[in-house]
Amino acid sequence: MKHKIGFMGLGIMGTPMAANLLKAGYPVMVYNRSPEKAAPLVQQGAGLASHPKALARATDVVIAMVTGPEALGDLLWGPDGAGGALSHSKVFINMSSVSPSYTRELARELEPTGVTFIDAPVSGTKKPAEDGSLIILAGGPQDKVAELSPVLLAMGKKVVYCGAAGQGSMMKMCINLLVGLMMEGFAEVLNLAKLGGLSQEAMLDTVFSGPLNCGMFQVKAANLQNNTYPPAFPLKHFTKDAKFIVDTAFELGAPVPVAHTILQLYRTGVAQGWGDEDVSAIAKVLEHLNPKA
Ligand code: NAP
Repeated sequence: MKHKIGFMGLGIMGTPMAANLLKAGYPVMVYNRSPEKAAPLVQQGAGLASHPKALARATDVVIAMVTGPEALGDLLWGPDGAGGALSHSKVFINMSSVSPSYTRELARELEPTGVTFIDAPVSGTKKPAEDGSLIILAGGPQDKVAELSPVLLAMGKKVVYCGAAGQGSMMKMCINLLVGLMMEGFAEVLNLAKLGGLSQEAMLDTVFSGPLNCGMFQVKAANLQNNTYPPAFPLKHFTKDAKFIVDTAFELGAPVPVAHTILQLYRTGVAQGWGDEDVSAIAKVLEHLNPKA
């Protein structure tokens, strides 16, 4: 019998992920703080819960895909929170990007409920969420992760088992550090090329013709070319993750000098009011720092 899935958080990522669970034949109930965002999924056959507790009561696998710790706290422990309906017969999967230390704290908070807890953040953005080709970075009891893999694979193409709860988030920190560095590096090179009088076309042709070519640069190049940044991965969310990355590195004693620098740059983007634009709007931050004519 297919698990009954409860899905909380219907943003850029959550909406297509819940839609893919429906497509895979799972009975899905949804909850979102702003209820209007649930309408398209209800049209596709999802049930609608009036609050997180009702969602957790009616389902056996509860998934959260929300901004971060504050949202998770509200959904789990706020009025009519899902936490009050979680029990040993249920599974709670957090797919939101949060720090490993927060994930371990969450595991401790959930322990008295008896629920099985899996942390399963994702690598991949809006398009892979739509295509069901996310890479799912799972932490928690290995047998339970294996048992739940069909559910996870309805949303992604691969599950990477990372270790105990918190290690999925650790993997997410590492992979997002690479995303942030590469995105800033790409934008920095294009900005330097422009100031140096090279055409953007020639610069991109050079990158794409050799070993530096990669999927992320291919996907983001159009934003930089058109100077428009429709949000696939909002810049404000990467800034949140960059803070988690430097905090995690500090706890571990790991040197991440460039992560500190990019945190400041992305934060400048948020301060400039570009937080709701795509992470590739880091290009606007560099342009903002250019000498003025
Ligand atoms: P999003 O479009 O901004 O959606 C955020 C979701 O969180 C919305 O459903 C929002 O509800 C909910 N939320 C925020 N604060 C809340 C609160 N206090 N109480 C209840 N719900 C709250 O974000 P997203 O891009 O889907 O990202 C979701 C998570 O996935 C984040 O952790 C992000 O870092 C991670 N992620 C994103 C991407 C990406 O490319 N976008 C890729 C990998 C991972 P409302 O609709 O009511 O605001």
